[in-house]
Amino acid sequence: MDFSFSRDEELFRESIRSFLSKRLSPIWESIDENQLIPIDIIRDLGSQGFFGIPIPEDYGGQGGTFTLAAIAAEEVAYHDPSMATAVYTLLNNAWPYILYLYGKESIRSSILPKVSSGVGFFGIASTEPQGGSDIASLKTSALRDGDYYRVYGEKIYVSGVREALEQLELGGWLLIARTGRIEDKHKGLTCFALIGKRDGRIISNLSYTKLNTIGRHGISTGILTLDGVEIHKDYVIGEENRGFYIAMEGFNLARPLVAAANIGAARWALEEVVKWSRERVLFDKPIASFQGVSFPLAELAVELEAARLLVYKTVWLADRIYIRREPGLKPVDLAFYAAASKMKAVETAYKIFETALKTLGALSYTKESKIHRGFLGILSYLVGAEGAQNIMRYIVARELIGKEYVK
Ligand SMILES: Cc1cc2nc3c(=O)[nH]c(=O)nc-3n(C[C@H](O)[C@H](O)[C@H](O)COP(=O)(O)OP(=O)(O)OC[C@H]3O[C@@H](n4cnc5c(N)ncnc54)[C@H](O)[C@@H]3O)c2cc1C
Repeated sequence: MDFSFSRDEELFRESIRSFLSKRLSPIWESIDENQLIPIDIIRDLGSQGFFGIPIPEDYGGQGGTFTLAAIAAEEVAYHDPSMATAVYTLLNNAWPYILYLYGKESIRSSILPKVSSGVGFFGIASTEPQGGSDIASLKTSALRDGDYYRVYGEKIYVSGVREALEQLELGGWLLIARTGRIEDKHKGLTCFALIGKRDGRIISNLSYTKLNTIGRHGISTGILTLDGVEIHKDYVIGEENRGFYIAMEGFNLARPLVAAANIGAARWALEEVVKWSRERVLFDKPIASFQGVSFPLAELAVELEAARLLVYKTVWLADRIYIRREPGLKPVDLAFYAAASKMKAVETAYKIFETALKTLGALSYTKESKIHRGFLGILSYLVGAEGAQNIMRYIVARELIGKEYVK
């Protein structure tokens, strides 16, 4: 057993830390306040190799690993704890990989290099207004008409709607839609590469509405309305009616990166509160000298370390399955760890931010303090983004106890 990162991984972390501390740290509050990641930051992240990390170089990716992608997600969230830039980064590492695994050659080679270089964005459009957890009941329909599918429906709480459709040259999502009968449940779903904007223009019959979110303002969250959007059959990802399984594989790759981002933001918050506990003097002593202050911080440091180990074990396993393709391992082997790492990292981050807010006292209730911006960022994952926390518990319980018991 070896808990150390390789020399290449250490060098990668050092080099991106140096870049992010100069380029992102100084402006992360203004990203949140102005509700926009400037396009030059996106371009710079693209040229510095933050996107498409596990995608082979032949498709414009970095030819790296999920471990490197997790390092990137952790460091980006540490340097922008509002999570906006981290969300942007982790989506552009996880979901394009599914396009790489299951997309048609012509689609992979035209889209992936653009996403990896920062000219394009590729996220996930799964959730619908009637509820995000019950994917098997989703209603958006894709009706075959010759070489095209005509898609009708609404996707809600979709990250990156404005970035994909306004800010960048190319933008899209892995779209899950119904191609079978509603009674077919999860066996009647298909994944598509919905490229909503290409060559600088939004495609016909697609529109979006930006939602007024309470945090992580730098990346938009919104509604996509598909009113007869035409998608060519070449944009089907994988086989028709196998979309549920493909989407689940995508979530298993996205969740450890979400977890990595949560531990990055949490590490920042813990450092902030430790600094504050040394500097704030009450009753003639730094408040760190009160065990009522220092013991909760000690417990949280241990929880953070445990969450971090779980996150990096998960991406180590993802690399063995997808990058090294070790015999005897299957994509489904990742399900337990992917759900467990998201569950643990998000809840640990939440506890750390809660303690940080309380320890800073009234200051944290003002915009003088930055803590609330990080708190509202990680809260997005506690309330549902990339899967509700109870769904993580459901997956862990199913893997632990058995499918025949946990329905
Ligand atoms: C900021 C943000 C960004 C997002 N970005 C995206 C995106 O890019 N693309 C996308 O498709 N979606 C996105 N989502 C949506 C996200 O995927 C959903 O929030 C999530 O799937 C949960 O769906 P829901 O919010 O509709 O809650 P529901 O599914 O309605 O669940 C409500 C509550 O019921 C609980 N629950 C549900 N089922 C069970 C069960 N079987 N057992 C026990 N409890 C259960 C849940 O834990 C939850 O507490 C985003 C959400 C947020 C907040």
